[in-house]
Order: sequence, then structure tokens, then C-alpha cells
Amino acid sequence: MFSEGREAGECVIALDVGGTAMKGALLDRELRPLLTMRRPTPRAAGPDAVLDEIAATLTELARQASLRQLTVRQAGVVVPGIVDEDLARAVYSANIGWRDLALAELLEQRTALPVVLGHDVRAGGYAEAVLGAARGARDVLFVAIGTGIAAAVISDGRPLRAGGYAGELGHLVVESDGAPCGCGARGCLETVASASAVAAAYTVRTGRAVEGADQVAALVEYGDPDARAVWQRAAGALAGALAVASTLLAPELIVLGGGLAEADDLLLEPVRAALAEQLTFQRRPRLVRAVLGDEAGCLGAGLHAWQAVGESATTFTTGALAP
Ligand SMILES: [Zn+2]
Repeated sequence: MFSEGREAGECVIALDVGGTAMKGALLDRELRPLLTMRRPTPRAAGPDAVLDEIAATLTELARQASLRQLTVRQAGVVVPGIVDEDLARAVYSANIGWRDLALAELLEQRTALPVVLGHDVRAGGYAEAVLGAARGARDVLFVAIGTGIAAAVISDGRPLRAGGYAGELGHLVVESDGAPCGCGARGCLETVASASAVAAAYTVRTGRAVEGADQVAALVEYGDPDARAVWQRAAGALAGALAVASTLLAPELIVLGGGLAEADDLLLEPVRAALAEQLTFQRRPRLVRAVLGDEAGCLGAGLHAWQAVGESATTFTTGALAP
């Protein structure tokens, strides 16, 4: 699938920094994992501690590569929030708490590795486009539904970045007088349809605590009327936001990923039905589930890293994506 005949023994370091865990890997040219590593993100200890832990994890991955006599060509790090890939800056993350950090440069100073910076969800969408559910598609909306909701837009075969601000689907207002959102607005999609919002809404409605949205999904299948009401509200809100996105961006394909998409057809079917009802003249997108699971961000970080050393994704796909 990838270019052949390259020098063996080369790899990139890929690191996906999430709000709760960091997923790291050494990846070969075919993006096969040679080693994986998972560590908690010390978010509660503040942004400086997170930065220290990222640097320590990169250093450990480099050491592991050296033990295996692998040459590290590049490190790719993806983080949440607003990320300006062109300026290599982590502009803002409510989750981790940093503001306008020259993150790639800081990590290069600490680790002596060349570092390319990316956004977790855009990287995940990119990986789905190159290796996963969206292979060969030119107009794609990838939506990650977990603790929050964010999207990656690929338009005419190119990732839309807009200084790092594109794709904030989770902050479309879907309920005009809704609950306050972490962003400062009210009634954002994230407050209704994120995995954490679904779990919280069930508890508010019934007084019964649940461990997460997957438990609500199980109750939906069991026929619990409260779970069904919560689920239908989330699916309806999601479909409403996807209808807006479809009108504006006309994706041929919408890929749902993240924890809530693990519910598969239990989520996809009601969203599909509600979306079909709302669209009139618009291009009708196919709605599918992501296939790379929680590895998408890490694989996307690896793709960015290989591209940074001159390996273009166009050499190993149908050519739909430009770097
Ligand atoms: Zn919001």
C-alpha cells in the first residue's frame, strides 16, 4: 500500500494527547505499530505537568526506538482544542488549560526530536480518509463524539483548517435556551449529544447514576423509556447539526467516531432517519461509523510525521487527499 523498497529500520513517533490518556506509538512506513505506549494525562496537575509528561513520553519512545535499533525520522504530536498547524502553536485548550503555546518548539527543545504538531480530531479524520472509512472520498465530515464533540472537514480533497478554528460542530447551538456549555454559550450540541451529556441527562431525568453513555445505550436496547427519550433527543440534535453542516459543506460522506459511535446502528439509524427528514435539495451524505476506533488520532499523528519528512499521503491513497 505504501511506497516500497525503503530503508528498513526507520520509524516515526506518534503521540495522541487526550484529556485523560496519551496514546503513543512507534510506527513504520506502513503505519504498523512497532511499539505502543499508553500513559495517563496529568490534567489535574496543570498544563506545565502535561507538557512535562508529553516530553517524557516522547523521550521514552525515542529510547525504545534506539533499543530496537530503529532510527526516528520525526515525531508527530496531536492535541485537543484550537491548534494552528501552520504556526505549530497550541492556541487554546479548555480541557488541558494551555493558551497560545509554541508547543512544537518547546518539545523540540526538551527532547531534541523534530516535532510536527497537529489537532487530534483533524488528525483522526485524516487517518480515516487515508486508511479508514473515508478512503477515496473527497468531501468528508468526520465527527468525533466523546467527552466533547468536534469535527474534521475535508473539502475537495483538502483538510479545512482555518487557523485551527474550523470544525467546531460541538458548539453549534441546538437548543436556544439550553444548558450552559464550557465554551461560554448555552445549548451547544455538546451539551445534548456528547457521551458525557447523554450519561448526565439520564441521571438528571431518573435520579439513577450511570457509568457512561454505553450504559445508557444498553438501557435503550433493553427498552427503558427514559433512556430512549435521552437517546432520541441526542440523535435528533446531532441530526440537526449535521443538516446544517450538510447545507454548508455538502459532504458526500459523514463518518461518526468517538465513544458514542461505538453504539453503532443504535446511534446511526435514528441519526440517518432524522437527517434524511431534514434535507430537501442538499447533497445526501452517506452516514457511516469510523473504523479506526481510538487509534485514529495516533495514526493521524504518524501520517503527519511521515509527511513532514517528505512522505506524502497521496503516494499511498487513491490520490484523493492533498497534503
Ligand atoms: Zn459550546
